[in-house]
Amino acid sequence: MHDQTIFSYQTPSGQRVEILKQSFPSSRKRPVKKIAFVSGIHGNELEGIYICHLINKFLKELKKGNPEAFLGEVHIYPTVNPQATASGTRLWPFLSIDFNRQFGNSTGDSPAAKCAEALIKDLKLSADIVVDFHASNLHLKETPQIRITEGFHKKLIPLSVHCNVDLVWVHPLSPMFKSTLGYNMNQCKVPTLVIETGIALRINQKFANRIFLGMVNLLHHLGVIATNDPPPQVNHPIIAHPSQVVSIHSEHAGLFIGHTDIKKNTTKGETLGEIVDAKNGKTLQEVTATENGFLFTIREHPLVYPNSLLYRIAKDILT
Ligand SMILES: [Zn+2]
Repeated sequence: MHDQTIFSYQTPSGQRVEILKQSFPSSRKRPVKKIAFVSGIHGNELEGIYICHLINKFLKELKKGNPEAFLGEVHIYPTVNPQATASGTRLWPFLSIDFNRQFGNSTGDSPAAKCAEALIKDLKLSADIVVDFHASNLHLKETPQIRITEGFHKKLIPLSVHCNVDLVWVHPLSPMFKSTLGYNMNQCKVPTLVIETGIALRINQKFANRIFLGMVNLLHHLGVIATNDPPPQVNHPIIAHPSQVVSIHSEHAGLFIGHTDIKKNTTKGETLGEIVDAKNGKTLQEVTATENGFLFTIREHPLVYPNSLLYRIAKDILT
């Protein structure tokens, strides 16, 4: 394995910040396939950094015991927004820039814009396939899932089914996605899977381990690694198209009290939680499931206003 700095910049206090790439080269002259794992675009999303650690550890051991197993090439970019990660903030510090809105057309001379340019250039050279790890925000807990912008789904669903996620959510294109890393790499015909899991500033080890096994399976499936051991068994995800996902919102301001965790087989009418009024002991809203299906997003943050997102359900799909 070797480390490389793909971009660096100087902070006002003189410190140099470096964006690192760790590479596992192929044992062949021509790698079968090249894959890249990217994490930490949002600094408060830590699951992906842990998943990169697990992948790195696994590949190092494999390299030691069986270097011939590497038919392809693996590149890991574990923390592409290092200052945001160091301070546990979503945005690029000081400038409050969302790094995942800096891709595509050049967005100026800020370090974030320059870093985005360098990252996308390096990924285009290094990878045939990219996996971009995200966690949820501080408000919502998400089941391990892959989010696909409609239009890229024909190419991405066949890859997604190997990743051990619970759900593949195909959603409509919104203008704000046009400046994300995932959208721009897919536009450049480099298939890029955006994985979303857990909750910000926490690491859900169960979710991270599941995705790690999915990534090992993906490496086998793509022929990046080949070993005598069979690839891990993975879960076949539910594939939800835009009309199949429904959201449940708060109708009041108050404290949200959840009564259920993420779960499959939720039934319509089932109580999921309540909104309570702190000052008079009243329940303002009993929150119930509006559909049968997979409850894959649940609210964790108790403070709500009218129209705050509480739950998402992928409706039961007749196959
Ligand atoms: Zn993110």
